[in-house]
Amino acid sequence: MSLRIGVVGAGIIGLAVARELVQRQSWVVTVLEKEREVALHQTGHNSGVVHMGVYYPPGSLKARLCREGAERLADYCAQRNIAFEACGKLIVARGREELDRLDELERRARANGVPGLRRLAPAQMREIEPHVRGVAALHSPKTAIVDYRAIASAYAQEVRDARGELRLGARVVAISRQAAEVRVGLSGGETLAFDRLIVCAGLQADRLARLAGAPAQPRIVPFRGEYYRLVSSREHLVRGLIYPVPDPAYPFLGVHFTRRIGGGVDIGPNAILATGREAYRRRDIAVGDLIETLRYPGFRTLARHHWRAGVAELWGSRSRRAFVARSRSFIPELVAADVEPAPAGIRAQALDPDGALVDDFRIDRLDGVVLVRNAPSPAATAALAIAEQIVGELRPA
Ligand SMILES: Cc1cc2nc3c(=O)[nH]c(=O)nc-3n(C[C@H](O)[C@H](O)[C@H](O)COP(=O)(O)OP(=O)(O)OC[C@H]3O[C@@H](n4cnc5c(N)ncnc54)[C@H](O)[C@@H]3O)c2cc1C
Repeated sequence: MSLRIGVVGAGIIGLAVARELVQRQSWVVTVLEKEREVALHQTGHNSGVVHMGVYYPPGSLKARLCREGAERLADYCAQRNIAFEACGKLIVARGREELDRLDELERRARANGVPGLRRLAPAQMREIEPHVRGVAALHSPKTAIVDYRAIASAYAQEVRDARGELRLGARVVAISRQAAEVRVGLSGGETLAFDRLIVCAGLQADRLARLAGAPAQPRIVPFRGEYYRLVSSREHLVRGLIYPVPDPAYPFLGVHFTRRIGGGVDIGPNAILATGREAYRRRDIAVGDLIETLRYPGFRTLARHHWRAGVAELWGSRSRRAFVARSRSFIPELVAADVEPAPAGIRAQALDPDGALVDDFRIDRLDGVVLVRNAPSPAATAALAIAEQIVGELRPA
């Protein structure tokens, strides 16, 4: 049976879903994207790392779909000749007080089947990254770097080649159900009808869920991630990827060094409350977004519990000096003149009304509508596996 399926959002998740749909069945697929290009938001503003599954609680969706997605992504890039470099990653304990957390990461990584994982002493660590200092490290040699914008464009091309429709500049403003159909209203006044709708709207996920009649919670709270970049004469200080041992209280991995597939080494991202869901420049403020976040009880609870760390992050870690100070705890040779500002990204992080950050991927289903409600990192890594899961669970009738 031929189904009409709409996909909202041409980020890496929406495009991976659309690609899976056009491949598997003779379904009629339409992707609706409000921007004039694909991958303009999280997908085009991230660290470009293909994670191997070190961090995630064993048994979680993140753990399973990250491992599956990373393997599928490596195959995909190999088949299509898309740049993919397994430059490897070190997670470095900088002091003995971080060793318990490193032990826990090692336990998780082994349970998740991270390929080639090794525990390293300082001398072994320096064979891999000669400029790094620390008391112990985990090495994940298969962790890789890619350009997710290029990968999303390849998925988009496959959708078009298979006669899927990709409508850019199509902003969804209404979703309603009439009999067996899902009706979708666009900002220009047009209404489209589908048998199924899959919403992959990233930073707007909660708003689209509300349009579809689902609860507005969990709400999306946008966390800005700022980067600096090593000046080219200092890029030799970093060969691959160097990460700290993350603080388990936060879903973010901590400011790290990332070699970019197109050249250069970035330092970041930090994690501070964004002044708008799509406010990429520091001076941009979306007052409505900000008020919505500040009024949300979940955010207020989160802020109450973490205000000290939050204030420190907000005021302490934005400046070049603060970035360099943090980075020097790994690479003591760095000085302020070694870095320059680089473009920021904004993460969509779902937050429950009780102030708990939603840790795992979250996909809800509601009368013909699938809602991707939380797809933070490593969702770019996992996108092909997330898509396979969503499409595999679609009921034809
Ligand atoms: C700073 C940063 C670093 C990261 N690093 C990594 C990493 O190294 N590795 C990794 O695996 N992951 C990483 N991530 C996470 C990863 O980028 C995201 O998980 C992934 O891109 C999510 O894809 P998405 O398609 O859900 O969202 P998006 O890419 O944000 O796409 C959502 C799309 O929906 C569209 N949309 C929204 N509302 C509407 C509407 N009303 N009508 C039509 N279209 C709409 C948007 O315009 C957008 O194009 C990082 C994220 C950030 C921000």
